Amino acid sequence: MSGRQNDLDNLMRELGVDAPRTSDIHPEQDPGGSSTGLSDIDADFDSDSPDAQRVPTMFRRNEADPAPPDLTGSGLGEAIERTAHQIDSAEDRIRPMDAVEEFWRPEENASSESEDLSEALLRDAVVAPDILETAKRVQAQSPGRGLPEILLEMGMDQNGIQRTVARHSGLTFESVNPGLISRELVDRISCEFCQQNGCLPLREEGNRIVVGTIRPDDVFVLDQVKTMLGVVAVKHVLITPADVITAVETLSADSHMDYDVQEILADVEEDDVEVIENKNQDEEDDAQSSPVVRYVNHLIQTAVKEGASDIHIEPSEKALKIRLRIDGVLYEMMNPPRKMLASITSRLKIMAHLDIAERRLPQDGRIRVTVMGRQLDLRVSTIPTPHGEKTVMRVLDNRSIRVALDDLGFTEDTLAAWRRQIDRPHGVILVTGPTGSGKTTTLYASLQQMDTTRLNVSTVEDPVEYQLNGITQIQTHERINLTFAASLRALLRQDPDIVMVGEIRDHETATIAIQAALTGHLVLSTLHTNDAPSSITRLINIGIEPFLVSGAVNGVLAQRLVRRICDQCRTEIEMSPEAHHVLANHDLDCTTLWSGQGCPHCRESGYSGRLGIYEMLEIGDSLRDSIAASPSVTEFRNLCCAEGMRTLRDDALLKMAEGRTTLQEVLRVTDGG
Ligand SMILES: [Zn+2]
Repeated sequence: MSGRQNDLDNLMRELGVDAPRTSDIHPEQDPGGSSTGLSDIDADFDSDSPDAQRVPTMFRRNEADPAPPDLTGSGLGEAIERTAHQIDSAEDRIRPMDAVEEFWRPEENASSESEDLSEALLRDAVVAPDILETAKRVQAQSPGRGLPEILLEMGMDQNGIQRTVARHSGLTFESVNPGLISRELVDRISCEFCQQNGCLPLREEGNRIVVGTIRPDDVFVLDQVKTMLGVVAVKHVLITPADVITAVETLSADSHMDYDVQEILADVEEDDVEVIENKNQDEEDDAQSSPVVRYVNHLIQTAVKEGASDIHIEPSEKALKIRLRIDGVLYEMMNPPRKMLASITSRLKIMAHLDIAERRLPQDGRIRVTVMGRQLDLRVSTIPTPHGEKTVMRVLDNRSIRVALDDLGFTEDTLAAWRRQIDRPHGVILVTGPTGSGKTTTLYASLQQMDTTRLNVSTVEDPVEYQLNGITQIQTHERINLTFAASLRALLRQDPDIVMVGEIRDHETATIAIQAALTGHLVLSTLHTNDAPSSITRLINIGIEPFLVSGAVNGVLAQRLVRRICDQCRTEIEMSPEAHHVLANHDLDCTTLWSGQGCPHCRESGYSGRLGIYEMLEIGDSLRDSIAASPSVTEFRNLCCAEGMRTLRDDALLKMAEGRTTLQEVLRVTDGG
């Protein structure tokens, strides 16, 4: 099948329309014929052509009778008119039962919809007629299951069936060589996801990633894969379930080899990770001699060495998987034997002073360790799952918050604007973005450069992640009603100059924060919104009077983190058509793009470390006036852009043009526009 056909199919799928099927258009034609779907459509538009009767599927999907409508001599126009007319008439409107039947029409499924495919399967001699009949009977009793799926389950020739299904759906069939699969691509969406959803990212081809699925219509799986890979388009091919299983097994076997448990247990020195102030000395004495202790130590040590922010210990039915989040992306690092789950979890619970006997309730605690001479905290949380307890540890590394404002990735003008904001004596300044976008780091970096000897700087946080010198920090306790609002009210009685509120979540906290700002305090806080302008409308939406918002809020900084290109393997790359398009759309004069080739330094990912991208909204007099008029998000956003606000995407593209990150990262992290 030609590339043109695939592009068309992708486009149709993006639009939510079934792609025209070659075999629908020319039911009597040899399915191996070389004509493409595009030329078939061209033929349909030519009313003089004898092909005029053949109407692509998408134009007749609502009809009960799958036979092509009679359009002799009148071309496509009448077909559309006819469809429109049908939808108009009351009897043809979709009723609830019709909608249900859309999903399950056993008799029709067996006889009409799959007919073309059955014929194709018979013609290609992939299945014998009696087996096909059996499969159809099974299908009649299995709502929502396709004929190919049932045939595959019956143990029929997978390559043959998928080849025919692919041709029938206008896709390319591929037989997968497990040795050639890109581990890096699979790691990005995880083996588990591939196995559960029957898909595999295969390779990069030009600027697209080729993704195989076992079903031709897996639009949702493809969408998820696109999101996880951070690409806008993929090339979709059909593969066999057997190939997915083989590939996943091959990759998992490799990771077993990489991390041989016995070798680790023999290698790791107990002293490398030292647990500080452990009170359970009795249990500790027992546990110290155990290999599990060494294994857990090795795990923590690896995570810290790799610069991971989180450690996930995830049991499934048959396996135990350990993943590390590095630069915002999860990597599968180890697959210890499933039977080690209980001992690893118990060991971590002992270290975090949790109840090892309690396995039915979520618990959280903290471990203070010294790894390779550095002291750091791990915030531990366990939750029960059907396959055992899942543990996630966040690595709280004081070093990561001792970052100076200048090193976060601000452009010069944005940094100057931000400094102007935090140097003001009063008002509200907000940092906004999703969880993990680096908001806390920005706030801490800002607080730490304030003059704490001259000013009273206080914070209300949940949780207090890092202890800051010279700053009063309050930890909220919802259970004893020490909420953000209550803590903030108490703090304000202590005559602070600068207050940082971990997050504004509710009307009460917002009200107190605004009042504090209007009575001469500088208030820094965070919100969860997608961009800077919507923070303003969010405050109005949670019930703050627009004139108060307009009077109190001085600035909003929206931010995200993009991965930085690894400087050990950074090379110039060819500009793809997609990149040209994006650059042209954003009026960006940039002739060279860069990317990491992958090296041991960056775990072959091409990225090392992260970089902030920012959207700085400074609220001047004219914007204050418009806020007071309670604008809609879109209106307000347009106003901000007109006032010269650089959007997140524009800021990210600037950093791409400087060779600090890649287009994929920009598209992965920022919304369109
Ligand atoms: Zn590298």
